[in-house]
Amino acid sequence: MRVTYLVVWLLVYATSVVQSEEPPRELTPERPLHRITFTDAKSVTRSVDARVLLEAQDGGLLLEGRDGRLWNVTPKQLQKHEKTDTEFRPLSAEELGQQLSREVAELGITTPTQVVVTKHYVICSTAGRKYAEWCGSLFERLHDAFQTYWKAAGLELREPEFPLPAIVLKDHTQFTEFAAKHDRPDAALSPGYFSEPTNRIILFDLTAGPNTAPAQTAADIQRKIAASPFNVATTIHEATHQIAFNSGLHTRYADNPRWLTEGMAMFFEVPDLESRTGWKTIGRVNAPRRKDFRETSRVPREAIPLADLIRADEVFLKEGKARSAYAESWALTFYLLKTRREDVVSYLKTIQSKPRLIADSPDVRLREFEKDFGDAETLEREWKKWMTTH
Ligand SMILES: [Zn+2]
Repeated sequence: MRVTYLVVWLLVYATSVVQSEEPPRELTPERPLHRITFTDAKSVTRSVDARVLLEAQDGGLLLEGRDGRLWNVTPKQLQKHEKTDTEFRPLSAEELGQQLSREVAELGITTPTQVVVTKHYVICSTAGRKYAEWCGSLFERLHDAFQTYWKAAGLELREPEFPLPAIVLKDHTQFTEFAAKHDRPDAALSPGYFSEPTNRIILFDLTAGPNTAPAQTAADIQRKIAASPFNVATTIHEATHQIAFNSGLHTRYADNPRWLTEGMAMFFEVPDLESRTGWKTIGRVNAPRRKDFRETSRVPREAIPLADLIRADEVFLKEGKARSAYAESWALTFYLLKTRREDVVSYLKTIQSKPRLIADSPDVRLREFEKDFGDAETLEREWKKWMTTH
């Protein structure tokens, strides 16, 4: 349920912002700070302090702002470009909190905004401090569990370079307004989303009913949350996307296979709300996804052949295929992590080295998959057989 900018992005921009001499390399944090003035896609003039991630031969730029936001600037949009002597530095948690508050205030709402800062997160909320703190604690536990899981699997990840921004709104109305103003109206069709361009997760208070006051105590939140496991899974799902893109598991605007990014988010989304100190149950069966998998894989018009899921992301957008695309992505990720974890790590290292803004062909996708997992048809048979007993 991640905002699918990447597909659009790659289709629109991959030909214009591509370095043709050699593949672009991953940025180094020491890049100097640039001050760039340009007209954005909504015709607003912006002045952004950023580092330059990519520069195309035609002068097009891919920028990363101090808040972690990515900007694509075409030569036509570019007005002024100054390089400063200052080193690029991410915003501090406090600065980021102020910026997020300003953006929420632009909605014109009167609800007071509060900022909660945790070790890795800056949570800007109109849903009350208690709920924001509950989210912060959930995110931190997930973050630690995620890092621990991959370390044990032999994959070194990094700490996030930027404080991780989260916007938690009071109710669905504010959530919809925020999506329309700062992202895209259709982003609000899901109950939460991670925005790859802005690096944020946007959520709303799951405990808020149409006529109920915000929860005041942790126990109150816990009780209400326990009654809505699907919504908690959504929160964790989006937070997992954000962690994955900020720990180096995936790279924003690189060609990460959709089955993999969604599969990972669904592998981690099973909540562990009982433990206050840790997150001990990663990799449990995701019962709703398994149910979807069992139902859709039996119906020929819904089931997606494995090679099709691997070769391209379009199956996620095809009429009538989304449920099976998600379910199969979960089942495949679950199967591979349970039975072929070393091969998954090897495959992830290939994906981690992908340059930004270069789209792979379907054949390359399949070839890279088969390099680690063997022939897709054979794997599909083994996988489906294994899934009948798990
Ligand atoms: Zn997702």
